[in-house]
Amino acid sequence: MNEGYRFVKLPAKVHRVEREYARHDRRVPDSISVRLDLTYEAEQPVHIGSGFKGLDGNVVVRCGAMVRGVPGVPGSSMKGVLRSRYEAITRSCTGHTLKNSRSLRSSTGITKGFFTKDVLSHDAFVPCTRELMCAACALFGLMSKRSRITVLDFEGDKAFVLEAMLEQFSPNDHHLGRCEIEDDGREKKFKISELRGRKFGMGHGPIPEKKQWQLVETIPKGTLLRGSVLLRNILREELGGLLVALGRHPASALKIGSGKGNLRKNAADFDASFGRIKLVELTWRDHAGKPLTEDARAAYEAFTKSADRWAEGENQLVALHQGAC
Ligand SMILES: [Zn+2]
Repeated sequence: MNEGYRFVKLPAKVHRVEREYARHDRRVPDSISVRLDLTYEAEQPVHIGSGFKGLDGNVVVRCGAMVRGVPGVPGSSMKGVLRSRYEAITRSCTGHTLKNSRSLRSSTGITKGFFTKDVLSHDAFVPCTRELMCAACALFGLMSKRSRITVLDFEGDKAFVLEAMLEQFSPNDHHLGRCEIEDDGREKKFKISELRGRKFGMGHGPIPEKKQWQLVETIPKGTLLRGSVLLRNILREELGGLLVALGRHPASALKIGSGKGNLRKNAADFDASFGRIKLVELTWRDHAGKPLTEDARAAYEAFTKSADRWAEGENQLVALHQGAC
């Protein structure tokens, strides 16, 4: 059964190396600087919350984000999705550390959980440094270090439509890995070992008997979202990896916004959640706007030969996003 989310396996070891090319102050020989003009089509309604609430009659509505005065996807949201997809297909860190003691919700009544030493010391939770960094930190940026990728806002071509989203809670920690109950005589705790990997929301989770719906403003299905990604001093192999993250080659859908694994009211079962978008057009340009001919396959070929690539993660990510997500 689908839980509303799936996992992409973490590599045992992060590939951290010195990356002299990860810079802005001068042009790096043999690197590419390019602008990608992209059009995505919303295959499901997309809700990106603005943080504001409004009223429809006397029903509370969660408002959607606007970009330049129209419903759309802010560049920061798109960049977040691209980073997590790029992390999943490369031997990259997770960009965060794990806290050991956590409180959690569970139907068992147990409210505490902890990770084993093996999980806590997993290489993917060790922070990167300026001297030694993973592929994702090098491309998307490490702390204050500027990234070589700038993602502009994506404007939609349609007005918001209200949809009802089932309130569902994010997975409890004991779903994130292999889990045993440990009882020291005073209290019971979940011991979490062997993390299942990076979490991607999709499908929809179990449907509770008592449903609570939340009205949300969505970019409707069929909307075309147009925006650009600017790349500076990019290696061909990084471009190849980025094309996977963008859903270009090999082709796959992206999930964006809230409710990626939440049920949508009155929708066909296979299509009953939020946030699926698909790349329908990509134009390469130089930074002055002149169209370029680029070979996506050659870039992908370079990526497949790169020591940064995590093939198992790539295969899983692409397979999970073939339509029913
Ligand atoms: Zn890193």
